[in-house]
Amino acid sequence: MIHKVTLIPGDGIGPEVAEAACAVVEASGCQVEWEVVEAGEGALAKYGTTLPNRVIDSIRENGVALKGPVTTPIGEGFRSVNVSLRQWLDLYANVRPVASLAGIQSRYEKVDLVIFRENTEDLYAGIERRVDADTAESIKKITRRASERIARAAFNFAREEGRKKVTAGHKANIMKLSDGLFLECARKAAAEFPEITYEEVIVDALCMRLVLNPLDFDVLLLPNLYGDILSDLCAGLVGGLGVVPGANLGDKVAVFEPVHGSAPQIAGRDLANPTAMILSAAMLLRHIGETEAAGRIEEGTRAVLAAGIAVTPDLGGKTGTRGMAAAIIAEMERSLAHAGAR
Ligand code: ATP
Repeated sequence: MIHKVTLIPGDGIGPEVAEAACAVVEASGCQVEWEVVEAGEGALAKYGTTLPNRVIDSIRENGVALKGPVTTPIGEGFRSVNVSLRQWLDLYANVRPVASLAGIQSRYEKVDLVIFRENTEDLYAGIERRVDADTAESIKKITRRASERIARAAFNFAREEGRKKVTAGHKANIMKLSDGLFLECARKAAAEFPEITYEEVIVDALCMRLVLNPLDFDVLLLPNLYGDILSDLCAGLVGGLGVVPGANLGDKVAVFEPVHGSAPQIAGRDLANPTAMILSAAMLLRHIGETEAAGRIEEGTRAVLAAGIAVTPDLGGKTGTRGMAAAIIAEMERSLAHAGAR
């Protein structure tokens, strides 16, 4: 079966990590026809908009997309492409699995947690105004509908994956109404999943506890802004931004993308670590039912990371983006040949 999937290579290091991911997917044996569309700075130069309608239409039609990081030009009048895409497609759950990987030096071993970040509102709702020359305001919008569905998504995932605990991060001691409503919805969902432990931790204390003892956590449930910040913090626990994949899930469509941004300083130099994009592609394959191909990609990637030789400079190696992808493909082919010989 051939799967049609939208591909947004993106800006900065996006096209390089996208090329690496496509090569690895091809080697996995899964047949994908990529529909390539442009968003971000590249699209602005060509089409006069950072988010052409064609991007949204393609994702709606295909149901799934693999997306590289896109840059939103600085300046008034440009809404973030990522935020717009998530709102247009109602991709309400941002899911980021953060797991220790053998071979990657980090402060902890055996970190294994999953972040569920609300993806459509909070301070990202874009409700801002300049009150006068010296004052600006942003509105933090929290709704029952969005909070209930992200909470339910986190608990459902915990149940399906046999996870034990959901921790809600908040600042309801200060933002009593907005974060208070988020917690009210989290508690309601928790009551429907009595077998899963539920705890609430104030977000600043949560940052400290994550740094001191990340093994204490299983599933994190967070409003949009705290989720954004904690995603980078958690990436730092397992080797940095180059290795953490992600998914933006809605009821009808799903967009898979790495946690990292476009990293313009290293763009075009064959330096970017393709791991996060490759693991995002594996998540996509799992989502469309290609479990075996996804497993092959994950195993091949883990093997190359564990060997620690053919890895990019951010992981202490001297290999380029393309070279690392080639090493992963070679590893996948080796294990396929090995399985065939048995
Ligand atoms: P953007 O403005 O699109 O968010 P950014 O450079 O501000 O881009 P990130 O790309 O998220 O933010 O990352 C910050 C830094 O982390 C980069 O400058 C780079 O040094 C490093 N980094 C991020 N992703 C990778 C990667 N895939 N491989 C190697 N280094 C990376």
